Amino acid sequence: MIVLKTSRELGIMKEACSIAAGALQTVGNAVEAGITTGELDALAEKYIRSRGGEPNFKNYNGFPATACISINNEVIHGIPSKSRKICAGDIVSVDLGAKFGGYHGDNAATFACGEVSAEAKRLMDVTRDALYEGINAARAGSRIGDIGNAVQRTVEAAGFSVVRQYVGHGIGTQLHEAPEVPNFGTKGRGIRLLPGMTLAIEPMVNIGSYDVKVLSDGWTVETKDGSLSAHFEHTVVITPDGPKIMTIV
Ligand code: MG
Repeated sequence: MIVLKTSRELGIMKEACSIAAGALQTVGNAVEAGITTGELDALAEKYIRSRGGEPNFKNYNGFPATACISINNEVIHGIPSKSRKICAGDIVSVDLGAKFGGYHGDNAATFACGEVSAEAKRLMDVTRDALYEGINAARAGSRIGDIGNAVQRTVEAAGFSVVRQYVGHGIGTQLHEAPEVPNFGTKGRGIRLLPGMTLAIEPMVNIGSYDVKVLSDGWTVETKDGSLSAHFEHTVVITPDGPKIMTIV
């Protein structure tokens, strides 16, 4: 069931989203050579709790940390570790959320550690652009396929591929609720978008093939061909005046 949020609910959810956005910015600012993914995760948790929120990824289906931190060819769901150091030239995808007042916020971004390759930089730029194209297509009266189509066209025009096996989602009192928001699709297909829908739109983009695999830790998703991957995500609300990004500090 798709839940349309009232303005009262959106007001609370905006705070959850602001906390998630602040935590993501805090982690992004701390990315540097030599820091461990465990240290980045601790910064995220400390920030979220300092604003009265809860880290909503922690213990979600057994996930052991506040943030998913995925490096280079890792796509999503990387588990932070006290022994995993970030290196100069890495691209670091951070996905995290916060719960506040019973509502969830969810966002992600890929950060460069120092100078990265031109190809890595282009991957990050295209993935961010694809997110904004997808958000721009999330308009009342349009359909869910319009979002995926906008993302897919942007990504494929750049010669990259969108991951198929993982998708965006509705969000509200649950971290993941209906509908699914694929990053690929056909214009005019799928459910109709209505004011009050809150969606986490989150393109995952690979330089090579879109095929992915899950590692033996049961969480980390990597590209099958070893190519680099990037991930950007915002929580968005559809309003009569167009889409509004909620995950802003
Ligand atoms: Mg999400």
